[in-house]
Amino acid sequence: SLWRYLQEKFQESLSKVSYDTWIDSAVPVRLTDTNIIIEVPSSLHKDYWQNNLVTKIVEGIYEFSGKELTPIFMIKNEEMPDIAKPTVQRNRNNRLFKDAQLNSKYTFDTFVIGKGNQMAHAAALVVAEEPGTIYNPLFFYGGVGLGKTHLMHAIGHQMLQLRPTARVKYVSSETFANDFINSIQNRTQEQFRNEYRSVDLLLVDDIQFFADKEGTQEEFFHTFNALYDERKQIVLTSDRLPNEIPKLQERLVSRFAWGLSVDITPPDLETRIAILRKKANSERLEIPDDTLSYIAGQIDSNIRELEGALVRVQAYSAIQGTDITTSLAADALKSIMPSEKPKALSIYAIQQAVGKYYHVTVEELKGKKRTKGIVVPRQIAMYLSREMTDNSLPKIGAEFGGKDHTTVIHAYEKISLSLKKDSDLQRELETIKNSLEKR
Ligand code: ADP
Ligand code: MG
Repeated sequence: SLWRYLQEKFQESLSKVSYDTWIDSAVPVRLTDTNIIIEVPSSLHKDYWQNNLVTKIVEGIYEFSGKELTPIFMIKNEEMPDIAKPTVQRNRNNRLFKDAQLNSKYTFDTFVIGKGNQMAHAAALVVAEEPGTIYNPLFFYGGVGLGKTHLMHAIGHQMLQLRPTARVKYVSSETFANDFINSIQNRTQEQFRNEYRSVDLLLVDDIQFFADKEGTQEEFFHTFNALYDERKQIVLTSDRLPNEIPKLQERLVSRFAWGLSVDITPPDLETRIAILRKKANSERLEIPDDTLSYIAGQIDSNIRELEGALVRVQAYSAIQGTDITTSLAADALKSIMPSEKPKALSIYAIQQAVGKYYHVTVEELKGKKRTKGIVVPRQIAMYLSREMTDNSLPKIGAEFGGKDHTTVIHAYEKISLSLKKDSDLQRELETIKNSLEKR
């Protein structure tokens, strides 16, 4: 069914915590020619869906049925919206899913500054105030849920505030790619180019997804040049540095290095508490300080999940009809915490994750080829197999196409040594480990 299809789509793209919190609690209640009505438990859920999941759901429905439906979110026990009236979302001029597309909640005001993001925040402010002149392009990189998208939108808002007539465009790299491909299919390339090359600020999110897309990279190269020459501001994000994005054309890598690259690292405990406090205040939730500290202590890497935890606690207290306390929070979060004995990680899962990150196949990791592009990922996979699983060295060797256990030891030592001095490698391993922990 459609809903099942959407659930699977979300399952693939969201972490388990997010899935359990947002998707599991939503129920489709009605389908019309123009809308899908989805019931969610609270206004926080509604906001989350509206801000983060709308595009995905619209795409998913389109993939499944070829229909363009607009989702309407309804809070449980509230009145059914009157869908006979044309909704704002149907207004094509509103371009809900295209163009500037800024989330009104992602502003500098709502952004909490901490150690991990202060550089990025400062650079974002500079760019919003002096677009096109100082840091161009501005490039943010770092793990998921750390505020890259938020900062990007904040730049857009700020620029519009200062220059209300400025043309701002926010897109994910996938939207850029899709727009480009559609423009070829529909023979509207000129329109595509006009649209992308006439902006004052272009924000392109998650450009790691440009990997493998040759034609799109080519087009983006020209878009970039056109904007850059006109001194228009470009802001990009990715989960890693440009030179670490597999199959990203050298000329793009070098252009991206013309400006400033800043990383965003996970927030420390104080920052996490501050983020929770701000969020709780804006939602008018009363939560004692020790409970905020407790929640912030439980979820330590990803701000999106931190917010998810807060919603969960809030929903739990609403269902129970009691105030939010630390023990209630503990109960609410119990089911999403890593359970007492986490499911054992397999060597195969590690090989898949490493392969996916470095764009090599599991077969290549298990094979004998000695090219650098394969040897290092292979050693990393062996290293992680030793570090993250209980398998013996001979067993690990066997899982890598029958290699000797001394090869595994060698790989382990090599990577351990590199890790001591190579901060890029540290970050890469962190990202891979995170992806494994989130399975
Ligand atoms: P990324 O793009 O890096 O994956 P997002 O920008 O989507 O992360 O952030 C995930 C969620 O966390 C968003 O809801 C965002 O508003 C929130 N968030 C991230 N960083 C901060 C921050 N410093 N202060 C307040 N909220 C934040
Ligand atoms: Mg993002």
